[in-house]
Amino acid sequence: MKIAILSRNPDLYSTRRLLEEANAAGHEAEVIDYLKCYMNITTQKPSIYIRERELNDIDAIIPRIGASKTFFGTAVVRQFEMMGTYSVNGSDAISRSRDKLRSLQLLSRKNVGLPVTTFAHDTKATGSLIKLCGGAPVVIKLLEGTQGVGVVLTETQKAAESVIEAFRGLDANILVQDFVKEANGADIRCLVVGDKVVAAMKRQGGEGEFRSNLHRGGAATLVKITPAERATAVMAAKIMGLGLAGVDLLRSNSGPVVMEVNSSPGLEGIEVATGKNVAGSIIKWMESKAANGNKIQRGKSY
Ligand code: ADP
Repeated sequence: MKIAILSRNPDLYSTRRLLEEANAAGHEAEVIDYLKCYMNITTQKPSIYIRERELNDIDAIIPRIGASKTFFGTAVVRQFEMMGTYSVNGSDAISRSRDKLRSLQLLSRKNVGLPVTTFAHDTKATGSLIKLCGGAPVVIKLLEGTQGVGVVLTETQKAAESVIEAFRGLDANILVQDFVKEANGADIRCLVVGDKVVAAMKRQGGEGEFRSNLHRGGAATLVKITPAERATAVMAAKIMGLGLAGVDLLRSNSGPVVMEVNSSPGLEGIEVATGKNVAGSIIKWMESKAANGNKIQRGKSY
């Protein structure tokens, strides 16, 4: 197969590994900078180009769209879909997963465990939001934040009110969540490929840090997940319509709760922590889905 990895940087670990595994499996793989692509949205003949080359010979794409480039990146993925090219993650599913609020709403509808999560526009509702979360401590999250930036733990009612009012004063959209204390500053990242968790790691935040993000100094180790955690992760990816997903769970007293479903999960942390060939699993799964010109459109929400 001819495979294109849509990525802005060929030197990134995840991009390199996918390229390596695709070539090792006998495919003709290349990295394409999606921001350099341009498209012709014409009746009957949608097409896409890069540097005057028409990309009409690609059988499958693996999108690695940066959070800040979602709009153009998903337009490129959609254009490939219009041309019948197979995509590991569909454009709709990527857009859906980029909206934290919409993702949680979709997951809640299907009974997936979630931390109590509240949302309001009017600051007059602040007291009620905190109450709905069971009172302080609560976690306040900027909807647009990534990698733990804009995620604040407030220990008291007063602190929670001040932070909510400050964020809302700046017109930022925020979620207010019950603080899952028993997670002890750790979360579980499940790497879902198709309907399987192919690798899972536990990320533990540094001393005195409730956020476990590796970018914030968290440490990752191999973890054995429970059947409930496995089922929750697979279900969450399925609900989002993602073939490849990084599902983040917290271990709460009432079972696994989903915090986020990521459509471009990094491979370095999880391959190093688990010793598993995650990139290879992605390529294998893609082969089974896209082989023989079978151009399946993925991305429907379950
Ligand atoms: P981001 O998308 O910016 O990484 P997250 O919502 O994943 O933000 O939060 C970052 C980290 O903070 C999580 O990985 C988790 O360790 C911690 N965290 C987030 N929400 C909660 C919560 N409700 N209870 C306990 N810890 C939380």
